[in-house]
Amino acid sequence: MIAPGRMGTPPGAAGAGYFGAPAPAKRNDPRPALSPQLEMVFETRRGGDHSIPPPCSTPLVVRDKGSAGPHHMRSTLNLVPQTPALFRKLKLPFGLVINPMAAPGLRDDPIPTVDLGPGGPVRCAECKAYVNAYFRFVADGGRMVCNFCGAEQPVPPGYACPLDMEGRRRDAADRPELCCGSVDMVATAEYMVRPPAPPTHLFLIEAGAGAAACGATAA
Ligand SMILES: [Zn+2]
Repeated sequence: MIAPGRMGTPPGAAGAGYFGAPAPAKRNDPRPALSPQLEMVFETRRGGDHSIPPPCSTPLVVRDKGSAGPHHMRSTLNLVPQTPALFRKLKLPFGLVINPMAAPGLRDDPIPTVDLGPGGPVRCAECKAYVNAYFRFVADGGRMVCNFCGAEQPVPPGYACPLDMEGRRRDAADRPELCCGSVDMVATAEYMVRPPAPPTHLFLIEAGAGAAACGATAA
């Protein structure tokens, strides 16, 4: 997942269509039309740059264009001072709210599942970062550069792909891990201490008004 948050204005900021919301069409339906404010289409990248999300109270339909949606990762600041001195002067709290297991909305782009086979996920040999849309591929696709630590290393056998004229892998659009901000990667057995066990216990906690009134949920 890729965090937003840097100095500068987003592409198309303060202009119409920044969030990609379609213009309301004229309609003959007598029912009240949904307000565009009720559900905003949010493309996570526009014009080759990260999009800055609206306030967290704004209902969104997320279109994953290569960066994680704000349901999965949101910065407390949309604009980050460029220098440490300016940041200290502003005294603004800066953090990330990360929720990798957030369920996508009904109309959000679904989270694609990536299964790279018996070899498991492709990862940086130095920092163990997972291959993602911001890895760079060089040497005609035979080597890759980690976007976290900058380490250049050979592409694992079977994962290499030639590059196009712009230096982008020719299969990037067909591989969710190289074109989406959020993916589910299938882990191989080496990621598990033991095989998944079936559930053996079920706990039910009654939390209705009666239980709350008698203090049963106080603990
Ligand atoms: Zn790395």
